[in-house]
Amino acid sequence: MPEVELEFFGAARTVTGSMHLLHIDGKTVSMDCGLFQGRRNDAAEKNRKFPIRSDQIDSVLLSHAHIDHSGKIPALVKHGFTGPIYATPATADLCEIMLADSAHIQQEDARFWNERRARSPKDHIQPLYGPEDAKQACQQFKRVPYDRPFQFAEDSYATFIEAGHILGSACIFVEIEGPKPVKLLYTGDLGRFDVPILRDPACPLPDVDYLITETTYANRRHHNPTHMKEQLVRVIEQTRAAGGKVVIPSFSVGRTQTVAYYLTQALHEGMLEPLPIYVDSPLSVNATEVFKKHPECYDEAAADFWQAKGDIFGKKFIQYITDVNDSKALNHRDEPCVIIASSGMCEAGRIKHHLKNNVEDEANTVVIVGFMAQNTLGRRIVERREELKIYGRMYRLLCRVEILNGFSAHADRDELTRALAPLAPKLKAAFCVHGEGPQPEAMKEIFHEAGCAEVHIPAPGHKFPLS
Ligand SMILES: [Zn+2]
Repeated sequence: MPEVELEFFGAARTVTGSMHLLHIDGKTVSMDCGLFQGRRNDAAEKNRKFPIRSDQIDSVLLSHAHIDHSGKIPALVKHGFTGPIYATPATADLCEIMLADSAHIQQEDARFWNERRARSPKDHIQPLYGPEDAKQACQQFKRVPYDRPFQFAEDSYATFIEAGHILGSACIFVEIEGPKPVKLLYTGDLGRFDVPILRDPACPLPDVDYLITETTYANRRHHNPTHMKEQLVRVIEQTRAAGGKVVIPSFSVGRTQTVAYYLTQALHEGMLEPLPIYVDSPLSVNATEVFKKHPECYDEAAADFWQAKGDIFGKKFIQYITDVNDSKALNHRDEPCVIIASSGMCEAGRIKHHLKNNVEDEANTVVIVGFMAQNTLGRRIVERREELKIYGRMYRLLCRVEILNGFSAHADRDELTRALAPLAPKLKAAFCVHGEGPQPEAMKEIFHEAGCAEVHIPAPGHKFPLS
């Protein structure tokens, strides 16, 4: 009987830095290896730490490409990890562009710090990792399709099961064989039912002995996502009637493709009269190409649409911009149009230029389609502050602000209950991670009510033997 132990490190009583270790008879497997995000100094310090030496980790099982789940893999590689990284093909392709982008951000961050903040050369910092580490990490990826069990250690098998969260996202089902077999499920990030493009989270999930689950919105109920297309069209038509532009800050991976998909559908259906639409972000453009490469991940409606039209992201209607001069040229256009740009929370990237150029005109509309964390420019727009500081200058917020709330990529309380409560009666224990404040406790209650007595909210460093 192998000795099996679970060890928690990241996303324990917080929502970033996902990393959970499985020790199986002297071998160590990391489920996810994500970056901590948040206040700069705090995150930087956490991101330089690992629970054990990198060369003592034998393999990585990766649930999905989001940076808070994958973004520390290049650092692992930089410090001596040479093992395989198992992921679905779509996750591996997304990681190729996202880890390269993350490496670039790490370098810029270190450069900024060393030039502006360091008091002397001895305060200089090194980037967490560079492009060569990201590249090397990508070479260690092993692509495994959904629903196909694969061996990752002796007597140990894993299967990726649809999580419905972003393209390629998976729950990880682990089976450890022996006289006393252990079955474990790690949800990764669990998505929503009935969202566009993506399939629903797998239901029912397999019965297991142990469950590690995200709890991001265990205490919250989302708005119904079904009318988002209509709302988007309404805002665009109203803004067009006023002669204005629509500016949509959007995460490059996932949200941008959803908005592009809705607009493409609306144009095909005649719900929306054609107007210039721009996706202005190199990362979004690359991510959209990955989405196009993986129709095997589409739900039925998206697959049908793809079969019928050949392209669900509207190349015919939407101009995808990578060149910075083409991006700047948008400033000089007067006619009504839609501009979708990143970063999602308006803290960096081309969206800041578009906001600066458009927020002072009453005819324009900023449409919020994503979560805006505290202390971000995006949050100040959501709060409808009178003035916004962009690139060191104050701008009056005179344009309309529309908040469309139905776009979350995380399951809410009802959806978590629907997917996970059926597993509760057979669980030996459940572990609630990836949640802040009251969220893990709320999930604990759901499990208790559904018949699981042993529920843990692990802190970093907590270890549990599995048997
Ligand atoms: Zn995620």
